[in-house]
Amino acid sequence: MEDYEKLLEEAYQNLPEKVKTTVRFEMPKFEIFLQGNQTIVVNFMEVVKYIRRDPKILLKYLTKELAAPANIVGDRLLIKGKVRAEKINKKLEAFVKTYVLCKECGKPDTELITIEGILYLRCAACGARYPVPPIS
Ligand SMILES: [Zn+2]
Repeated sequence: MEDYEKLLEEAYQNLPEKVKTTVRFEMPKFEIFLQGNQTIVVNFMEVVKYIRRDPKILLKYLTKELAAPANIVGDRLLIKGKVRAEKINKKLEAFVKTYVLCKECGKPDTELITIEGILYLRCAACGARYPVPPIS
């Protein structure tokens, strides 16, 4: 039995990199809990890594959209005041749709670039490039 599991493990590790990384993009969700008068996003950095955006940009966006001051502490985001989890996740979803997923092909293989003061989303999958609303 142990040998069999070992074989499975080895088989998995020998899969070409491509097979492992073509996982379908799933809309990320924040894990949130309230502590006193603060709202804590436990997996903030995890989500940031998943969507491959600058944490500062997402912080800026959420601060503005939620009209609440927030700061990053370690892997967490601490928001001043009590904000409902549903509300924060709706904002995250809106952020991902605008600033992560390509509107042409729907793929998340994109990056944000600034050209002459204008923010663009550039897609590595289909080559699309279009301006997106500034985050300030
Ligand atoms: Zn695209």
